[in-house]
Amino acid sequence: MKITKTSKSRINEVDFSNLVFGTQFSDHMLVAEYSEGKWSEPEIKPFGPMSFTPAMHTLHYGQAIFEGQKAYYMEDGSIGIFRPDANAKRLNHSARRMFMPELPEDLFMEGIKALVDIDREWVPKEKDHSLYLRPFMFGSSEFVAARPSEKYIFCILTSPVGPYYAGNVKVKVEETYTRSATGGVGSTKCAGNYGGAFYATHQAKEEGYMQVIWTDHKNHELIEESGTMNVAFIINDTFITPPLSDRILGGITRDSILTLLRDRNIVKVEERPIKVEELVAAAEAGTLQEAFGMGTAAVISQISTIGFRGTDFEVGTPTDGYAMKIKKELTDLRSGKTEDTYNWMVKF
Ligand SMILES: *Cc1c(COP(=O)(O)O)cnc(C)c1O
Repeated sequence: MKITKTSKSRINEVDFSNLVFGTQFSDHMLVAEYSEGKWSEPEIKPFGPMSFTPAMHTLHYGQAIFEGQKAYYMEDGSIGIFRPDANAKRLNHSARRMFMPELPEDLFMEGIKALVDIDREWVPKEKDHSLYLRPFMFGSSEFVAARPSEKYIFCILTSPVGPYYAGNVKVKVEETYTRSATGGVGSTKCAGNYGGAFYATHQAKEEGYMQVIWTDHKNHELIEESGTMNVAFIINDTFITPPLSDRILGGITRDSILTLLRDRNIVKVEERPIKVEELVAAAEAGTLQEAFGMGTAAVISQISTIGFRGTDFEVGTPTDGYAMKIKKELTDLRSGKTEDTYNWMVKF
């Protein structure tokens, strides 16, 4: 791997006690290029601009995918990346569906470790802080014709982030707009899925909500996800989450939580379709104990209000309930406080 170090670190310009998510970037980035059927050797170089002409393929046709994951400062002083192999696999899942070249998993793994290692001073030591890692790939040919790009760039950026305080999350059950459809690209982290969601989220904000709960594209009957997080509910002391499909993104947080819940017998688990009707009935009957989103950024984000056709249902957000217990299990494993029996942390 070619490494060109920055001549002047920017780390002293960063106020680590006031980090705004995704706005500060570490000194280095990793770049690999694909052309004529193969990937170049990756290069680590100073973070900075890339140059393209306005004909750059991605700007027109959107072959662009990304990942999101974190590196943590651990109790024993080492740095650990959480399940990077799962992100490498998911990037390739997205790549196949978007007709982009797959990236060799060892290139991803070696690249991400080398990049975090070179900027290890950027991994915040404060509690609940982490280094957010953003691997992404995009078509970089320069032609304006609706056919697949011939060249691609794989890049990793890293960004120190602080704790995530969402406050009381009010969500609205979305029955007009759709995030994804059967046969579509909803199970991939392709850029357009997010661009396509901003309008619906903005409409919900105008109505006083923070996010939408996406429902299925056909009849808007089934609960799918909450914003850009997988969603789960506690009803009658049972953890219920929708099963994966090609409309739902397979979250690594979701998968980790399901694994912990099943192995440790924390709560009864049901991975099955859940109808809006059932959720509303549970809210009305008082059996809906908790509702939350699951994803890398917040780990768990408790939902305090669910709006449905103009009625707001309040949901408990206990500090000693299932959501917070699950969050603690996962954060303790990630910080090294409890044993990592799954070898989820890649430490160095
Ligand atoms: C990234 C993402 C998630 C969560 O995935 P994690 O791997 O847990 O961060 C869930 N839903 C959508 C739509 C996403 O983009």
